[in-house]
Amino acid sequence: MNLEMLPRKAILSLADSRQVTRFVTRYGKAFGAGRFVAGATLQEGLEAVRRLNSEGLLATLDNLGESVRDAAMAQAARDIYLEMLDAIRAHGLDCNVSVKLTQLGLDIDRDLCLENLRALVERARQYGNFVRIDMEDSRHTEATVEIFRQMRQRYDQVGLVLQAYLYRTEKDLESLAPLRPNLRLCKGAYNEPPDVAFPARARVDENFRRLIVRLLELGGYAAIATHNEQIIGFAKDYVARHSIPRDRFEFQMLYGIRPALQKSLAGEGYRVRVYVPFGTQWYPYLMRRLAERPANLWFVLSNALKR
Ligand SMILES: Cc1cc2nc3c(=O)[nH]c(=O)nc-3n(C[C@H](O)[C@H](O)[C@H](O)COP(=O)(O)OP(=O)(O)OC[C@H]3O[C@@H](n4cnc5c(N)ncnc54)[C@H](O)[C@@H]3O)c2cc1C
Repeated sequence: MNLEMLPRKAILSLADSRQVTRFVTRYGKAFGAGRFVAGATLQEGLEAVRRLNSEGLLATLDNLGESVRDAAMAQAARDIYLEMLDAIRAHGLDCNVSVKLTQLGLDIDRDLCLENLRALVERARQYGNFVRIDMEDSRHTEATVEIFRQMRQRYDQVGLVLQAYLYRTEKDLESLAPLRPNLRLCKGAYNEPPDVAFPARARVDENFRRLIVRLLELGGYAAIATHNEQIIGFAKDYVARHSIPRDRFEFQMLYGIRPALQKSLAGEGYRVRVYVPFGTQWYPYLMRRLAERPANLWFVLSNALKR
C-alpha cells in the first residue's frame, strides 16, 4: 500500500476512533511520539529549548493539551503556563509560549478562558515575553479571533495564528490590521469541510503567499510557519525585493521537522523559531503530524516493528 495516498482527512477521522486512541496512546513511544514531542516534563521541554538556543534557534514552548472540559483543569493549565514563563526567565532562554484557548477553558466558559489568558499575558508583560494563541479547528475560529482582538487592544505581548486554508482568513487579517498584529501564518492542520476551507493544496499555498504579502504590507509582524521550501523561498525573495528588515518577520518550524533547514535558515541570518511541545497529552498533536505527512506512518510502523 502506498501510504502517501492515504488521505489526510482519513487519518484525522481515524484519530477520533476510541480504539485507535487507546492503541496509539498505549504504544506511544513506538508510535514515534518522541520524534515530534520534546518529552513528558517541563524539564525536558526546557532542555530542548536550551539545545535549540545554543544552535542559534529561538523557540516557543507548548504544554500539550486541548479541549479541556473542566474549569479546574483549565486553571491547572494556566498555572503550568505561568510556571513555564517563570522557568524561561529563570533559565535565561530565548523562548516564548504558545497556548490553545480550549486548554484554558474556551469550551467551558469564555470569561474563564479570558481570565486565564489574561493572567498569562500579564506575566509575559512583566518579563518582556510573549504569548502566542494557537489556532484550533474552525468551530473555534471566531471566538479565538475575538478574544485575541480584545487582548491585543490592551497588550503588545500577545499574538495569534491564522490559517491559510480557511476562506475567512483574508478578511480576518484585514479586520485585525489596525491593531498591527503579530500573526503566525500557517496552512492549518485540522479536518475542515470544503465550505470552510480550500480543499486543494495549490489554493492553500497561493493564499498563504497572499497572506504573507498582505500582513507585511499592513505593517504587522509575520511569523511564517511552514516547512515548505517554495513558500519559504517566496518569502525570502519578497522581503529582499521590498527591503523588509529582518526584525519584521521570522520563520517558524515544528520540533523534529526539517531540523537541517531550520539551522541553514538561521545560518543565513534569519530569525527561526522552533515550536517545542512537551507533556503527556500528545495524542491529537501526533495524529495531526501523521496526517500532514502520511509517509510518517512508515517511520512509526518501522519503529513499532523494531520493538
Ligand atoms: C511553528 C508552527 C506552528 C503551527 N501552529 C499551528 C496552529 O496553531 N494551528 C494549525 O492549524 N496549524 C499549525 N501548524 C501546522 C500547519 O498548519 C501545517 O499543518 C504544517 O506546518 C504542515 O504544513 P507545511 O506548510 O509546513 O508543509 P507542507 O507543504 O505540507 O510540507 C512541506 C514539507 O515539510 C515537511 N513536513 C511537513 N509536515 C511534516 C510532518 N508532519 N512530518 C514530517 N515532515 C513534514 C515535508 O518535508 C514536506 O515535504 C503549525 C506549524 C508550524 C510550523
